[in-house]
Amino acid sequence: MQPADLKNLNIAIVGGGYGGAAAALALSTIGATNVTVYEQASAIHQVGAGIGLRPPTVELFRQWGGFDAIAAVSSPSDYLEVLSADGRRVIAREEWPKARDYAQENNTRLIHRGDFIDALVGLLPEDMLRVGHKLTGIEDRGGRSLLTFANGRTTTADLVIGADGIRSVVRDRLFSDRPPVFSGAHAYRIVISAEDAHGMVFDDNLRLYAGQNNTMVYNLPLRHRNDLSFDITAESEDDSWAPEITAEYLVDLVEGFDERIVNTTRDLDVSEMTSRAVYDIDSLDVWHSDSVALLGDAAHAMLHHQGHGANSAIQDAGALADALQEAGSVEEALARYQAIRKPITDELQRLSRLGWDANDVDTAFPEKTSIK
Ligand SMILES: Cc1cc2nc3c(=O)[nH]c(=O)nc-3n(C[C@H](O)[C@H](O)[C@H](O)COP(=O)(O)OP(=O)(O)OC[C@H]3O[C@@H](n4cnc5c(N)ncnc54)[C@H](O)[C@@H]3O)c2cc1C
Repeated sequence: MQPADLKNLNIAIVGGGYGGAAAALALSTIGATNVTVYEQASAIHQVGAGIGLRPPTVELFRQWGGFDAIAAVSSPSDYLEVLSADGRRVIAREEWPKARDYAQENNTRLIHRGDFIDALVGLLPEDMLRVGHKLTGIEDRGGRSLLTFANGRTTTADLVIGADGIRSVVRDRLFSDRPPVFSGAHAYRIVISAEDAHGMVFDDNLRLYAGQNNTMVYNLPLRHRNDLSFDITAESEDDSWAPEITAEYLVDLVEGFDERIVNTTRDLDVSEMTSRAVYDIDSLDVWHSDSVALLGDAAHAMLHHQGHGANSAIQDAGALADALQEAGSVEEALARYQAIRKPITDELQRLSRLGWDANDVDTAFPEKTSIK
């Protein structure tokens, strides 16, 4: 689209998570200035946990002028290691894929979720973000949509991006009312000080300890903060969104794991942990109309086993901005965006449902062979 058309395009982004905020940043860098992000919460917030920003995601931040802001609050990581539960056997150790695919080498960057969203929102032009706006209804009128919010306000937009997460209202109203799917697992997450991690913070690499019955421990060091993001994922039939857990239950789960993991678990303050039943969604047939598109978890929520959800949301944002620049119209851009991104996220959704089988791990990155 022509720069003048992009400048005048009235864009509403629903949801101020990683996907919505990254979309706002990507669009502002291509000259779309009439962009508003509507977030339901009264303040932008993320749970206490770490994630890894993969090399292609880091490359986008370079393009968007945000690399320094992200680098200032993250640690560069070289590889992912998959170990047996007791830590004695390295099952796979591989460099993060695509680290050397760009003019400048991009490590994966390990970052606290809260620091990441703060840095991302800090990169947005002023006044783009409206908090306290919970979308309750959307009417797609072809080239324009009407949005209704719980606070009584309404607005119209030429392009709506539904980045409102796994329980997306935009998806439910316009594309699919099928509910999220419970995976039969829980994730228990906390960020602790390195001093409380019994010697497990010693370099900048992500370690995944694969136990029996699909119990996994993810150790993600955040050395720039002197912290460890500690995540236990385990099977459960309890599908309540925020299941209750006890210290005894967690200690039982990690029996037979590396003794540093057992000792760390024993010392945890369970009241500080984020406990979540893990859900994803089935792959959608279509995630755009002529003027509305889904992005991130709203389009393709996936299980967290390989750590692609937030990365995919940000890469969606990059692809959408590229498509708008390259296409002749919004309608054509949205078709192009889905054609580029959906085959990739369909495959990531599929792979994430396979999880990790402790007895059968060939590679730390199962997506490497099927996604180029
Ligand atoms: C246990 C666990 C571990 C994970 N680990 C990783 C990892 O290591 N790496 C990785 O890449 N990904 C990981 N993920 C996935 C990642 O968290 C998500 O994929 C990512 O947060 C999706 O971003 P999003 O912006 O699409 O959605 P969200 O982060 O869910 O953001 C949606 C936003 O929309 C807002 N919203 C919702 N409804 C409305 C409404 N009606 N009106 C207005 N606003 C609304 C919400 O308040 C929220 O701010 C993990 C997920 C889990 C559960």
